[in-house]
Amino acid sequence: MSAMPSITEMQQAYLNRDSGYNGLFFLGVRTTGVFCRPTCPARKPLPKNVEYFATPREALFAGYRPCKRCRPLEHDEQPAWAGELIAEIERNPSARIRESDLRRRGIDPATARRYFQRQYGMTFQAFARARRLTGALNQIREGGAVDQAVFESGYESHSGFHDAFVRMFGSTPGQSQNRDCVFLEWMASPLGPLVAGATEKGVCLLEFSDRRMLEAQFAAVRKLFDLPLVPGSHRHLAVLRKELNLYFERKLREFSVPLVYPGTPFQTQVWKALLAIPYGQTRSYEQLAIAVGQPRAVRAVGRTNGLNRIAIVIPCHRVVNKNGELGGYGGGLRRKQFLLELERGAHSLFAGIKEPHPHKNRRCADST
Ligand SMILES: [Zn+2]
Repeated sequence: MSAMPSITEMQQAYLNRDSGYNGLFFLGVRTTGVFCRPTCPARKPLPKNVEYFATPREALFAGYRPCKRCRPLEHDEQPAWAGELIAEIERNPSARIRESDLRRRGIDPATARRYFQRQYGMTFQAFARARRLTGALNQIREGGAVDQAVFESGYESHSGFHDAFVRMFGSTPGQSQNRDCVFLEWMASPLGPLVAGATEKGVCLLEFSDRRMLEAQFAAVRKLFDLPLVPGSHRHLAVLRKELNLYFERKLREFSVPLVYPGTPFQTQVWKALLAIPYGQTRSYEQLAIAVGQPRAVRAVGRTNGLNRIAIVIPCHRVVNKNGELGGYGGGLRRKQFLLELERGAHSLFAGIKEPHPHKNRRCADST
């Protein structure tokens, strides 16, 4: 548990809706079973009914639901300035925000560079450029004229636009009318930011963005689908984001968003078998091998499990060792344990197992 301010300080912070404390602590309200950010606009609870948490994760494990008004699971640790910059680029992808503009707004360009590098694997300038080009690609795909796309993307010359476009998408603007892409978006979660990817056919990628192998994963996806990877929104990603939020709120057990997971026949079979493991349950690697009709291929099944590209939705976290130990997990064992506990907690709640004060149940928080 990370250090929190003193109780008196936190009390004052939430009573004053002090935004300086956002992200530093969360408050659980015993009377409602809901947890909030210090700045929540809802009516302030009496201090005697408040319990404090350092992270949303701990509040969730203690049985609290995220508040619908202050949405403590969203904008996970995203500083306000970063949110504003991204919103600005979304509103107007052709806007050029230079380092001097950042400085004028009181944003240190080096901090911005580090933040975008860590969150998105690219500098802020590269992120903005990619969004600009994605906007142009979308226009062209919707039948817009290339000239108009050049103009609106903020490029000063056709050749500059053309070269940047080919570098990004691997085809010229004129050839791009039917070009699909893997659109990438980053999503906050109580387990840290996730990077999600989707093509026209469905979601093809969901990974924790701090995963060490992420760049290799990007390269593999690019090669496998033979499509460029571009940051941008997509209708499948919008559905995924909504479903993920519900999943983390324990309100969704099965995802409905379409998935694409090409692989060898064996891999596809294993991933399908993963999708068949019910929410809240686990299987051993041996059971999974039997399920795909290859009882002796336990190791190959384990390896294929680890190659799953769509974390959480294809529930590779539901496969554990025969002796009950967690086994491995690409996103780290703490996350695997979190997901299993989340599903188990929901299972017992929905199955009506008696939990008269679910928000007072601290067993998970105590054991981690
Ligand atoms: Zn709230």
